[in-house]
Amino acid sequence: MSYNFNKQDIIDILNNSSEKLFQSADKVRHEFKGDKVYLRGLIEFTNICRCNCFYCGLRRDNSKVERYRLSEKQILECTKIAYKSGIRTIVLQGGEDSFFSADKLVSIIKKIKSYDVALTLSIGERTHEEYKIFKAAGADRYLLRIETTDKNLYKELHPDMSLENRINCLYNLKSLGYEVGTGCIAGLPNQTIESLADDILFFKELDADMAGIGPFIPHPNTPLGNFKRDNFELALKVMALTRLIMPDINIPATSAMESLRPNGRIIALQSGANVIMPNMTEVSYRKKYEIYPGKICINDSPLKCAGCIKNKIESIGRKISETKGSRFEHK
Ligand code: SAH
Repeated sequence: MSYNFNKQDIIDILNNSSEKLFQSADKVRHEFKGDKVYLRGLIEFTNICRCNCFYCGLRRDNSKVERYRLSEKQILECTKIAYKSGIRTIVLQGGEDSFFSADKLVSIIKKIKSYDVALTLSIGERTHEEYKIFKAAGADRYLLRIETTDKNLYKELHPDMSLENRINCLYNLKSLGYEVGTGCIAGLPNQTIESLADDILFFKELDADMAGIGPFIPHPNTPLGNFKRDNFELALKVMALTRLIMPDINIPATSAMESLRPNGRIIALQSGANVIMPNMTEVSYRKKYEIYPGKICINDSPLKCAGCIKNKIESIGRKISETKGSRFEHK
């Protein structure tokens, strides 16, 4: 069963109670994706960023961050640990750090791809030419959240950036043959329910292969630091609705959800999600990659993270997939 909601339907559902929504999303997930959970090993390889996004702890103007870059050797060490823990997708994520030129990234991509893994890049906005080069070097997927499709809000929160360019990047990635992940933050200041409905419709319009939805968590060293609100339920609703509208895509139980609830990711896995992204970054760097406060597992080793997630997943009768887990695997 799949659902064909229009914008007003989505708004109504977001405004109403949610137990039935979560159950329906769980059912659709079971039907279209099965009970296996895909793991993606996240490597946070640089926290240096030229952007100044108002919500993000890694924003350029946050001088309290101790900045770091991992060397190629360190990145490959994380990859090896992830591979040994059975993970078959690596996500290389970082700030928009021009130190990592196309040449440097190509070398890293090729070496990661010498393991039998799928590789997702999550390094922000680059040119069409660069996306093409990364694809040719072996990158399989790209993760770039639209963050919000509200034009005014986008402008307010992203100095020197434009919604138009972000959308362009996503369509460029699609046309180059990447599996494309996008997503949004739920609960941003001045964000409306209408615009969240538009976000979901945008995922559909783009035909995103993956959509990650996380609650906004205010970071004290950003301009939005005082904006306190619990956005867990809202993010979960947007996620569950996305599952109903795009039944066969990959949807992660995001780490930000777990930061707000002790079992946030398990709740998400039972409300439509089918993916988890254990952190494979070396312990000493994790706390420096503080996008939002209260990030989970900052003192755990990569192996501990993989093991702990496995136990949690099995405790709800689900199993870890041993495959690369592309969107179309279950077709
Ligand atoms: N530079 C990369 C990676 C960004 S970090 C890129 O542009 O794609 C990954 C995600 O963290 C962002 O896309 C954003 O959605 C999320 N994020 C950043 N700050 C946040 C906050 N305060 N609360 C919740 N999510 C946040």
